[in-house]
Amino acid sequence: MKTIGIIGGMSYESTLHYYERINDQVNQLAGGLTCAKMIIYNVNFEEIRQLMLNNKWDQIKLNLASIAKTLETAGADYIVIATNTMHKLADYIQSQINIPLIHIADCVAQKCKESNILNVGLLGTKYTMIEDFLKKRLMQNGLGVSTPTNDEVINKIDRIIFDELCKGQIKNNSKQYYIEVINGMITQNNIQGIILGCTEIEMLIKATDLDIPIFDTTQSHIDYIVDYALERKLIK
Ligand code: GLU
Repeated sequence: MKTIGIIGGMSYESTLHYYERINDQVNQLAGGLTCAKMIIYNVNFEEIRQLMLNNKWDQIKLNLASIAKTLETAGADYIVIATNTMHKLADYIQSQINIPLIHIADCVAQKCKESNILNVGLLGTKYTMIEDFLKKRLMQNGLGVSTPTNDEVINKIDRIIFDELCKGQIKNNSKQYYIEVINGMITQNNIQGIILGCTEIEMLIKATDLDIPIFDTTQSHIDYIVDYALERKLIK
C-alpha cells in the first residue's frame, strides 16, 4: 500500500471527510482491519486566510511547498491538496517535490467524462471561479466550463463558503441560493452537469436537489486517492 500525504485544514470540515472516507473506502476494498497509510499536515487556516485576504500568495506558496516537502520527507508516496483553491499553487508545489501531486481537477474531469458530461458549470471560491487555474485544467481534460460572471453572485457564493461552510454551518437559504444559481446556469449556459469545485459545497448541495448530475471534487479526489493508495490505478 502507498502512503498518502495530505495538505489539509482548509477547511478542517472538509479534511475530516477526506480522513473518514479514505479510511472507509480503503477498508471496504481491502477488508479486515485495513485502513489507509496517511500523513495529514493540518494547517491553521486562519493564518492562511489572512494571507489570502492580504493577497500574500507568494507566502502561501512557500508555506504549502514547505509542507509538501515535509510530507515527502516523512514518507508520503504522493501528495494531495485537500482544497480546490490552493490548486492555484499546484504547479509550484509540484516543482518543489520529487513525488507526484494528484490534481483535484483531473480527478473530477475524469468522472464527468465517464458519465459523458462534457459541458459543465463550476462553482467554488471567487478565486476558483474568476481565475483560470482550475477552469484551464478542466478544459485541458476536454470539458467546456461555465462559471457565474456576475460579481454579486460570485461574492455571495464565496461568502457562503468562508463564513458558513468552512465553519460547518449549513443554512437552508444558502442552499436555495446555490440551487437558484445552478438552475440559472442550466438555462443560460446549457450546462449538463455541475462541478462542486470547493471541498465544502457537498455539505450543502446534494444530488437530489438538482435535475442535472453533480460532480463533487471532494469525492472524486477521494476515489482517486484510494485507488492510488491500493495501487488499483497507477499514477501517470
Ligand atoms: N476548501 C475550499 C476549496 O476547495 C476553500 C478553502 C480554501 O480557500 O482553500 O476551494
